[in-house]
Amino acid sequence: MLTEAMGKGGPAEIDKKHIWHPFTQMRDWCAPGHDPLVITEGRGSVLIDSEGREYLDGNSSIWTNIHGHSHPRIVRAIQEQAAKLAHSSFLGFTNEPAARLAEKLVALFPPQTLTRVFYSDDGSTAIEVALKMAVQYNQLTGNPERCRFAAFDRAYHGDTAGAASLGGIAAFQDRFAPLSFPVLRVDGLAALENLDAATRASLAGVVIEPLVQGAGGMRLWPAGLLRELRAWCDRNGVFLILDEVMTGFGRTGKMFACQHEGVVPDFIALAKGLSGGTMPLAATLTTEKVFAAFLGDYAEMKTLFYGHSYCGNPLGCASALASLEIFEEEQTLAQLQPKIARMRDLLSAFGREPHAGEIRQCGFIAGIDIVRAPGVPYPWQEQTGAKVCLAARRHGLLTRPIRDTLVLMPPLCLTDEELESAVGALRSALRDVCAA
Ligand SMILES: *Cc1c(COP(=O)(O)O)cnc(C)c1O
Repeated sequence: MLTEAMGKGGPAEIDKKHIWHPFTQMRDWCAPGHDPLVITEGRGSVLIDSEGREYLDGNSSIWTNIHGHSHPRIVRAIQEQAAKLAHSSFLGFTNEPAARLAEKLVALFPPQTLTRVFYSDDGSTAIEVALKMAVQYNQLTGNPERCRFAAFDRAYHGDTAGAASLGGIAAFQDRFAPLSFPVLRVDGLAALENLDAATRASLAGVVIEPLVQGAGGMRLWPAGLLRELRAWCDRNGVFLILDEVMTGFGRTGKMFACQHEGVVPDFIALAKGLSGGTMPLAATLTTEKVFAAFLGDYAEMKTLFYGHSYCGNPLGCASALASLEIFEEEQTLAQLQPKIARMRDLLSAFGREPHAGEIRQCGFIAGIDIVRAPGVPYPWQEQTGAKVCLAARRHGLLTRPIRDTLVLMPPLCLTDEELESAVGALRSALRDVCAA
């Protein structure tokens, strides 16, 4: 039966005719049997489709949402800002929300550490900015040979060509290898420590997703690795570039993942949750030392020639300011701690399911491997993870797997009751698909 959305002239029908979706096999999407879900509303942790069905937002709308959908404070901030000024250029002008947000972001880090904020639009661009700043800094300070980056196996730093060059996921990577700039790929700290002096001296920076690699399958780094990496970078004159696009804004239980190990990077890339998950907005923060190297007479050509049309967008910055205010007013991080513990308990019970493999949790982020039998994965081509997530919809949960790893990363405002429902929906879906 066709839903209303799939009916003639409905959004799903039009979509199938004209849209090309990200990370999607469009032959499957456009197949006659596929009835795309049309999301029409969001309230708190719940998304509502065009048929009026409600679902828990199990992956925070691809890792972006923080305080729930349509949070009144963020809605008001966007409405008020839109009525005043939706956008003006950041090339040559400034605006109040962007300035105030920069001050707030800087204040989230220890004094006199990350003092400069460069705005862009998404996680990929936040990384691109850090790469260009790091390379140009080295040129400007007499070390032009430091122009390469080290990044980790299974890393994910975005899809634009520069950010993608850092990525270590073969399925996303291999096809474009000839276009990628050279990156030193390492599998851990030991590999860095074993580099010869010449290679170390060719590095501008090391890029890492702190504590947990997201798109690589919610893989946890050993405790202490980040602190050791900071020390290695300091010993070798290499910048530490943290990609907190996924882990930022409370997801790991602290505002930023690097705080778990008392580490301050030379660059940090923020995006996804920065605006509370409402507007595309990103920020790259760096130190006054880096910033100062770019100062000079115009004719010296030290300027950072980089920018996007929507840098410093007032709507995005107003929503981010509102999101940070909610963190304070609602004591979001304090409220989150018992929920993290509750998630741990629920997942440990989930682990007794015969088709549950390894379960990894970092703060309010969880990855659950599903297996045919203990230690025996499903063939990836069978898309078992995707089938389980499709089945979870029938039990009231939306999420998207990473191959055969189920992802549970709900908005931080999720209630205990909703958390139980979310884990219950995954359990029912796993039984539907795997016990058959
Ligand atoms: C999502 C993500 C990115 C890319 O962000 P986009 O906004 O999708 O460009 C980069 N790094 C990490 C760790 C991410 O999770």
